[in-house]
Amino acid sequence: LFLDAPMGAGQSLILNRDQANYLFNVMRLSVGDSVSVFNGQDGEWQARVAEANKRKGILICETQSGLQVSPPDLWLVFAPIKKARTDFIVEKATEMGAARILPVRTDFTNSDRMRQERLQAHAVEASEQCGGTYVPPVEDIQNLSTLLDHWPDDRQILFCDERKVGEPVSDLSDQHRGKWAILIGPEGGFSEAEQSRLRRFEQATSISLGPRILRADTAAVAALALWQRALGD
Ligand code: SAM
Repeated sequence: LFLDAPMGAGQSLILNRDQANYLFNVMRLSVGDSVSVFNGQDGEWQARVAEANKRKGILICETQSGLQVSPPDLWLVFAPIKKARTDFIVEKATEMGAARILPVRTDFTNSDRMRQERLQAHAVEASEQCGGTYVPPVEDIQNLSTLLDHWPDDRQILFCDERKVGEPVSDLSDQHRGKWAILIGPEGGFSEAEQSRLRRFEQATSISLGPRILRADTAAVAALALWQRALGD
């Protein structure tokens, strides 16, 4: 269970209503039972239920059962698409070890009604599901152009470009190690203006994910898998 609270031996952890409902009604835990908890920074802890009622609960942290494992320094930058598919992207990016998730508004972004808290909750759930100790922050949507205007000097962009022939991502090798971001466009792809800016962008390398045009959610998962294979751990 993810809890946004400091963890250490003897530390009390107060559960909110949803967390209490999940542990005591769904998981059927009661006073004295033990549960694994993490906060994204201090590894995994075993905590014992000290108080359990419908709307509230208290856990006491006992022992650390796992060290903090943080993912490689990889960001996923993507244009939100339909709700369920955007949820899928956030869930899979969390499972695949993205360190930070940045939704962007592009010229052809067709879904602007993205709810950041909802997506963050999906990242928490995905991390809980796969036994992770890290939850990638999901940022609020911002314009791709603004993001590029302030792009950090020390980070490379893997620009996934369906029109690019050749230079598959598998060409990435040890010499490309460092900070990266994968960039995936919306259903309509990037506009001509965006493509030409990205092609000229010094830190961007355009890559192909193969000869077929993939849906944006498939492209995100494929790019994450290929990057992890080439440069991840
Ligand atoms: N513009 C395209 C069209 O309408 O024909 C489709 C864009 S595709 C559905 C969405 C995004 O997935 C693209 O902007 C790109 O970032 C990525 N993508 C899909 N297929 C890809 C491929 N074969 N190689 C690299 N990137 C790909």
